[in-house]
Amino acid sequence: MNIDKRIEYDKELLNILPDGVLVLNSDGEVTQLNQQAQTELHIKSFPDKSTQPLRIENIINLIYHKEDILPVVMEGLRKGEQGYTLPEHIDIQEKNNYTQFPVNGRFVTVREDGELKGILFFFRNITVELTQEYILNTALQRTKIYPWYYDIARSEFTLDYRYFEHLGITPGINNTLTMEEYVEMIHPDDRQAMADAFTIQLSGIETFEKPVPFRLHRGDGTWEWFEGQSTYIANVLGHPYRLVGICMSIQEYKDIENTLIEARKKAEESDKLKMAFLANMSHEIRTPLNAIVGFSDVIASTYYELSDEERADFVRLISINSEHLVRLIDDILDLSKIESNTIEFTFENYPLKSLLRDIEMEQAMKPVPGIEIKALLPDADTNVVTDATRLKQVICNLINNARKFTEKGHIHFGYTVDPNHADSVLIFVEDTGEGIPNECQKEIFDRFYKVNTFKQGTGLGLSICKTIVEHLQGEISVSSEPGKGSRFMVTLPLNIQRED
Ligand code: ADP
Repeated sequence: MNIDKRIEYDKELLNILPDGVLVLNSDGEVTQLNQQAQTELHIKSFPDKSTQPLRIENIINLIYHKEDILPVVMEGLRKGEQGYTLPEHIDIQEKNNYTQFPVNGRFVTVREDGELKGILFFFRNITVELTQEYILNTALQRTKIYPWYYDIARSEFTLDYRYFEHLGITPGINNTLTMEEYVEMIHPDDRQAMADAFTIQLSGIETFEKPVPFRLHRGDGTWEWFEGQSTYIANVLGHPYRLVGICMSIQEYKDIENTLIEARKKAEESDKLKMAFLANMSHEIRTPLNAIVGFSDVIASTYYELSDEERADFVRLISINSEHLVRLIDDILDLSKIESNTIEFTFENYPLKSLLRDIEMEQAMKPVPGIEIKALLPDADTNVVTDATRLKQVICNLINNARKFTEKGHIHFGYTVDPNHADSVLIFVEDTGEGIPNECQKEIFDRFYKVNTFKQGTGLGLSICKTIVEHLQGEISVSSEPGKGSRFMVTLPLNIQRED
C-alpha cells in the first residue's frame, strides 16, 4: 500500500470510530482529527487552510474542578508520562462556540527509543449516558425498584446497594448474597412460587416473565411485599449463565389494598348493622308504643271497673314507655344530626361540680331500689371549657346505661384531676352491674352494637357519646369485668384547642 493510500485508509479508520480522536505531534500540534472530534469540537474544516498550525490548547480546555488542567497534562506527557486517563467529572470546553460537555477519555503517547513522537487523545462525550443514568436512578429511587443479577456458576446474587439500605440489612461483600442467604430472607409461604419461577428461568427453555409477589424479611423484623421480575442472559449455546431482574417494593400498594379491604369490610358490616337496626327499630318503637296504646285503651274502656291501684299502675307503665320512646327518638335525631354534621357545640367555662350535683339531684328523683346512685366529688370545684349540655347528655347516657345493666350495688359518678395531668379532668361513671365481656369492650362504641340483642336499647347511646366526647376534644374508654361491673371514663381537656 502506498503512503497516500495508507493515510487515506487510516483516516477512514479513524472516522468510523464512535469516539473523538486527536492525533498530535510531540509539540502538541494537531496533525489529524477524526469526524467525531470535528463534530464535537465544532471544527468546520481540517486541515486548516491557514498556515498557522492548530494546537490542542487552541481547540479545547479540559475543565476539572473549574480549572483547565490541559497544560499540566501535556507537560506531564512531554516529561515522560506514558499516558493519562481523564478522571471522573471532567469536561471538555471547546473553543469555537465555547460549549462544554462531560467526557471519558485518555491520552496515549507514541515513543521511539523513549523519545516522544506523538500523542493520541481519545474522548467520548458522555452527556447522553449521564442523563440516562440520572433519569434511571431518579426513576429507580422514586419507584423503589432495585436491579439485581444472579451469577449461575457462582450461585450468587449481586444486588443494588440501595436494596440493602432500604431493607435495613448489612450488605454482603460487593453487595452480594448467596442463594441460601437470599432464600432465608423470603417468607416461607412465598418460597415455592419463587423456586418455580427460578427453575423455569434457569432451564433456558422459556422465560418466566410474570412478576412474582413475595415477602422479604426486613432488618427490623417486619415483612415487606415485593414483586420480582427477571430474564436470563444466555451463552452462544443458549444456556443461561446469568439472570437479571428487578425487585420492586409493592408494600405501599399492599397497604392501600388492605385499607380498601378493611374499608369494604367495614362498609359491609355497617350495612348489615343498619339493616339489623331497621328491623330492630320497628320492634323497639312498637314495643313501648303498643304498651302506651294498649294501657291507654284499657284505662279508657274500663276506667270505672279498675281499682285506683290498677289505674295508677297502668299510668306508671304508660309514663315509663313514653319516656323510653322519647329517648329512642332523641337518639335517632341525635344520630341523624351527627351523620349530617349539623350538631352545634357551644363552649363556655363551666363549673364541673355543679353540673354533676345537678345530675345527682335529677337521679335522686328516680331512685332504683337496691342501688345507691351517688356523686363522688372532690372538695374543690373545677372549671372546664366545654359544651355543658352535651357533656351532661354524655354523663346521663352513661348513668342510664349503668341503671339498665345493674341489679344491685351502686352507681357512682364523679371526677378527679390527676396532678400529673393537671390540664385535663377525668370523669367517671362506675357500676356494680353485669359488666362487659373483654372481646366486646371495643365494639360497644360502634353504632348499633349491643352485647345482648334481646336487651332493651338501640345500641346508639355509646356511639353518640363517643362522637360528642371527640367534639369536646376528649376521649372515652371503659374498663369492665363481667359479673363485677363497669367503669366508663371520659377524659376532657380543661381548656379546648381552638381552631383558627
Ligand atoms: P344501648 O344501651 O341503647 O343498647 P349503648 O350504645 O348505650 O346502646 O350501649 C351498647 C351496649 O354496651 C349495650 O347494649 C350493652 O350491651 C353495653 N353496655 C353499655 N353500658 C353498659 C354497662 N354500664 N354495663 C354493661 N353493659 C353495658
